[in-house]
Amino acid sequence: MESKTANGTTGTTRDLAPREPAGSELLHEAILARAAEIPDAVAVTTHRQEITYRELGERITGLGRRLLSAGIGPERLVGVTMRRCPELVVALLGTAAAGGVYVPLDPAYPSPRLAEMYRDCAPAGVVRGPGATPLEELGGGSGDTVVDVDEVHPSGAADSALAALSPDNALYAMYTSGSTGTPKGVVNTHGSVVEMLRWMRSEFPLDGDSKVLVKTPFGFDVSVVEMFWPLVCGARLVLAGPEEHRDPAILAETVCEQGITDIIVVPTQLPHLLRELGSSRGTSLRRLFTAGEDLPVELLRQCRERLPDTEVINAYGPTEAAVVTLIHRCTADDTARARVPIGVPLGRTRAHVLDPDTLREVPRGERGELFLGGPQLARGYLNRPETTAERFLPDPHADRSPPGDRLYRTGDLVRRAPDGLIEFLGRQDRQVKIHGNRLELGEVEAALRELRIVDDALVDVRTDPSEGGPVLVAWITTDDPDESVAPLVRKQLFKRLPGHMVPGHVAVLESFPELPNGKLDRNALPEPVPEHTEPSAATEEGRCREGTVREVWEKVLHRDGFGPEDGFFDVGGNSMLLLKVRAELHARGHTDITLLDLLENPTPRTLGTLLGEREARKES
Ligand code: ADP
Repeated sequence: MESKTANGTTGTTRDLAPREPAGSELLHEAILARAAEIPDAVAVTTHRQEITYRELGERITGLGRRLLSAGIGPERLVGVTMRRCPELVVALLGTAAAGGVYVPLDPAYPSPRLAEMYRDCAPAGVVRGPGATPLEELGGGSGDTVVDVDEVHPSGAADSALAALSPDNALYAMYTSGSTGTPKGVVNTHGSVVEMLRWMRSEFPLDGDSKVLVKTPFGFDVSVVEMFWPLVCGARLVLAGPEEHRDPAILAETVCEQGITDIIVVPTQLPHLLRELGSSRGTSLRRLFTAGEDLPVELLRQCRERLPDTEVINAYGPTEAAVVTLIHRCTADDTARARVPIGVPLGRTRAHVLDPDTLREVPRGERGELFLGGPQLARGYLNRPETTAERFLPDPHADRSPPGDRLYRTGDLVRRAPDGLIEFLGRQDRQVKIHGNRLELGEVEAALRELRIVDDALVDVRTDPSEGGPVLVAWITTDDPDESVAPLVRKQLFKRLPGHMVPGHVAVLESFPELPNGKLDRNALPEPVPEHTEPSAATEEGRCREGTVREVWEKVLHRDGFGPEDGFFDVGGNSMLLLKVRAELHARGHTDITLLDLLENPTPRTLGTLLGEREARKES
């Protein structure tokens, strides 16, 4: 099969293996090797701290030893729970050093969902750090092996007697949304990740002056590139604060203050980031990768206009194939195309555009399903042999691929353009992306059906009537449809699902519309209406500033669609974010609002009323 390399030269895909000096096939070893070479260079930076490669290496080795002594070894799963902080990097790599398989248990997720993952993966141990979810909330017991990363002593790297591993050993198990109602864990190996990183390193070299921003929550695989690509190159990673990824203004500030050179963003975040960067800032950015969603041509045009000296790279890849598998280095010519391509496969990855039924290659220019092969493929799904067998098939192109090779069926519809570049056309199943977050509509429907008040549920993506962007909409049937149902349903969902999986609009129906043949009439489902855009109501004491509260929440929680009675802590808020709400209200002139006011007035309606009253009092 002929294809182009990322820098545009043509060759056979089999020849595309990066010609790099031989390095370790194990992630932690590749990074410990850097620690030995450049011990005094800075590896990790936060707003307050700098950690050298020496310190990082010693802490990784120390944790590795500690876990080994606690019985963790190859293929043993280890839940990691803490907020984004330097200890997180230590925890992930220290787990790997012991041979363990890290499972992200991000405390930002609701506890019931974490407990579901914990139950599913039944980890052999837990590594905890600042901001961890308590073990009881995870469903762990007093007999579980728990290691506090802060309490582990650093250990010299010289007398290394860490686990004996092969590249086929698992490195992490990361949960993505599952169509049958529960999240599914994707298991990736050292070999697949190192393959991707080695390729990244040769195609996009970083040096001691490079600074890569780490802002993706560690339960998403883009974080693997953000953290480990700089570390295998001996460059520096800059950790954004725990909640900073939600706020483009703070991210833009960090980019400028820290002189970030490389950043990976989801296209939906991009307009906000570009706006915040303004025209004269962000000049340190050498490369801007967009990943996770289609990059619209118009957005690429804006990037080139605002950041003319920054290279834009469209990166594509599912969690099931070590993060990034296809890339396209964008050029000025791309703005004249109908679509920004996802480009060509990385390294030894093979990309086939096949007819989804016959698995035959479709002619160039025609739409087909994208199948991926090569060393970056994940091992499969944790505890789900059937789903693994459905998605990872024996390669039918056996004559051209090594024996035993598999293909991952992505579910993505693509076409190979006349110039050979692959273009993304959409999905062929019910997996969607909302603001860059992957979710299965079936999982949200299943969660809705589990609520006692809900008889049946449908979920789909529609255009938000107020905002114009995509919004998740649920239609539910219930015996008791009244106006309290929708807010109650959303409130209950926020306790079970991550915020991005909670529908912004819930339509409550007595029954679903049917076609004459009794089938569901999808077209007759009511479109979402702008529920909460009515002007702030007047109250007895003065005006109500509900709209202001919603705007502030949207900024701080990075989502929209809040109802007047939604409680701040029910919609994903926490005490740290409350501080941000206060700061934001102060910045808007409501300087007398205290934390106690916020705690006592947790909904847009009550807080809006308070703001209105205070305003009226000041004016009189
Ligand atoms: P990631 O976080 O690396 O995007 P996920 O597993 O969350 O991985 O999502 C993978 C899916 O996201 C792909 O199958 C595809 O539908 C979509 N996707 C990822 N990158 C792109 C891209 N550059 N362009 C279009 N769609 C993309």
